[in-house]
Amino acid sequence: MTREATLIAGDGIGPEITEATLLVLDALGAKFDWDEQYGGMSAVEKAGTPLPNATLDSIRRTKLALKGPLTTPVGGGYRSVNVALRQEFELYANVRPTKTIVPGGRYDKVDLVIIRENTEGLYVGLDHTFKVGDDPKAVAQTMSVMTREGCRRIVRFAFEYAKQHGRKKVTIVHKANILKATSGLFLETARMIAPEYAGAIAADDKIVDNAAMQLVINPAQFDVIVTTNLFGDILSDEASGLVGGLGLAPGANIGTKAAIFEAVHGSAPDIAGRGIANPSAQMLAAAMMLDHLGELDAAARLRHALETVIVKDNVRTRDLGGTAATAEFARTVARRV
Ligand code: NAD
Repeated sequence: MTREATLIAGDGIGPEITEATLLVLDALGAKFDWDEQYGGMSAVEKAGTPLPNATLDSIRRTKLALKGPLTTPVGGGYRSVNVALRQEFELYANVRPTKTIVPGGRYDKVDLVIIRENTEGLYVGLDHTFKVGDDPKAVAQTMSVMTREGCRRIVRFAFEYAKQHGRKKVTIVHKANILKATSGLFLETARMIAPEYAGAIAADDKIVDNAAMQLVINPAQFDVIVTTNLFGDILSDEASGLVGGLGLAPGANIGTKAAIFEAVHGSAPDIAGRGIANPSAQMLAAAMMLDHLGELDAAARLRHALETVIVKDNVRTRDLGGTAATAEFARTVARRV
């Protein structure tokens, strides 16, 4: 069956890793009817806006997208298109698995999933500066907004995810000792939901600074982590660093209206256009998309091929200590598929 899906190649290394991923999907025989759209800097260049209506319309229709990284200007400039997409389609659950693939690293048995709330907290965009005297930015203020319903649905999602994927424990990560209202609401809601899963899924909770340290000391103790937006963003990059870096970290943004799959990393402007980016994260995001569509066999074949190429064939991109170019790596995975 051919599925219609939106394809946003993205900025920087986006087009390179997306082309590599399409080659592998093709080799798998996964049939997609791609509706190619733009977002971020490439959309500004083509359509004069970072998030064209055509892109939104396409995702509204297909409810499914594979997306490359989009550049967000730091400091000033337009607001993040990624955040806008998450809010527009209520993609409230950001699922970010981290698993050891490359053997012989500092950590051998990492296999955890971070479930990050994706629409609330400090990402709601209530961010202002105030003028005092002559200084237009004398004071800066940001606001975090959490709702009980937002907390409830992400915690429920995490426990249901754990149940469906044979996971044993959910760790609730928060800062309720200091952020008593927002993080406190998250923890309180999570503690109300956790007992419903008693006997099937264990639950514990950790303050975020301790969780960040524990991730480095003993990552194998974690199974599923559920946390709020900013903490999830930071902890998932940290977790990817335990197993070889951002080049291996995929993510899914799941909501009621659509699902968007992407690498955790950004557009990597420092290496864009050089053909050396690691496309694994984008390929693993495509595998998550296949899982989401119930194509479990194709997803497993993709993951197996990718792991075989890295571990047995020893074909690796530079970020993993190898010399393979993006295209060469992609061709090797496609052959293994
Ligand atoms: P980044 O993830 O783009 O890069 C961080 C470092 O990791 C760089 O040294 C980069 O070369 C390396 N790296 C990242 N992906 C790699 C890959 N596939 N293969 C090899 N090396 C890789 O983070 P950044 O530099 O902080 O951000 C750059 C831009 O990307 C910013 O505009 C940011 O807003 C955006 N961004 C977008 C997304 C997204 O679209 N989901 C996510 C994060 C950052």
